[in-house]
Amino acid sequence: MATIFYDKDANLDLIKNRKVAIVGYGSQGHAHALNLKDSGVDVRVGLHAGSASRKKAEAAGLRVLSVAEAAKEADLIMILIPDQTQRKVYEEEIAPALTKGKALFFAHGFNVHFKQIQPPADVDVVLIAPKSPGHMVRRQYQDGRGTPALIAVQQDATGQAHALGLAYARALGTTRAGVLQTTFKEETETDLFGEQAVLCGGAAALVMTGFEVLTEAGYQPESAYFECLHELKLIVDMMYEGGISWMRHSISDTAEYGDYTRGPRLVNEQTKAEMKKILKEIQTGAFAREFILENQAGRPMFLAMREQGKEHPIEQVGRKLRDMMSWIREAKKDSSDPGSR
Ligand code: NDP
Ligand code: MG
Ligand code: MG
Repeated sequence: MATIFYDKDANLDLIKNRKVAIVGYGSQGHAHALNLKDSGVDVRVGLHAGSASRKKAEAAGLRVLSVAEAAKEADLIMILIPDQTQRKVYEEEIAPALTKGKALFFAHGFNVHFKQIQPPADVDVVLIAPKSPGHMVRRQYQDGRGTPALIAVQQDATGQAHALGLAYARALGTTRAGVLQTTFKEETETDLFGEQAVLCGGAAALVMTGFEVLTEAGYQPESAYFECLHELKLIVDMMYEGGISWMRHSISDTAEYGDYTRGPRLVNEQTKAEMKKILKEIQTGAFAREFILENQAGRPMFLAMREQGKEHPIEQVGRKLRDMMSWIREAKKDSSDPGSR
């Protein structure tokens, strides 16, 4: 069984004795900076020159410095900028400030696990990864609750790395829900696998292919959109609340019978073999190399695929239909808060 830590396991004083720099003020950055500040921690935000999020951070009452200044001033530095920019910013602005006994924190293990960032041996290296987008981390905290998170220690130079990680997790509100012990390797590999095979890659491909099959057979795109995309949320909500059996309990017997007899024909041994290949590419570092090279080349494929994705017919009909649903319009307005996506 996994080890899970709660408020009672964490000593908030450990983080209150530290000067904390939050580097980045996007999805995670704004939530970490504000939750820590509200927990009584001495926080400053590090942002690059010309940063669009600077005004938002200042308007929220935070002190904003350059990344280099924030890293120099602080003795705990949490890196919350996009994974693909972390190496450069680390080398240019953070590494020079990493003196003995400081702590370097991450919310995802990618750069450390794949050795893009190799911190000096005399600093603590810790992961606190909320299992939730930043706006949820903030909203739950404000409501007196918390989102679950993961904790991992890559380097314990001071003998206090784990306790310091728990203190940070508590200030962030995550020990209210529970913080699960893991490693940088496990967090990185399972996170990449989940998003590629199931959550983002798998789900998007399934929805788009289902939509194509219905529209190519002559059904209206609007009907195809409702059946293949819109209703997915309702099904996922049920799985989220009570697992797969609870979802199956709520749907009709017709749907349930179709689920048992048709689902495994789609996601079959061949699909599973491909999932295992995808996992191997993650474990061997092949995916990481591919992504890093793509970024170094200026992201030609990535940007082309992004544009191509936007042109899919499901996106066109979706825009029209979502406009009819006032609660979706409102939720979207809501999520244009700092950094939430
Ligand atoms: P975002 O893309 O939301 O971060 C954007 C922020 O980074 C902005 O404030 C941006 O400034 C700033 N930024 C971008 N480039 C630089 C730079 N060169 N120097 C300084 N600041 C810069 O990141 P996320 O919050 O999505 O991700 C941060 C980390 O958290 C990642 O490691 C990610 O894997 C992890 N994570 C993310 C989750 C999520 O839900 N998004 C969930 C769990 C972990 P500006 O826009 O003003 O230029
Ligand atoms: Mg991820
Ligand atoms: Mg139906």
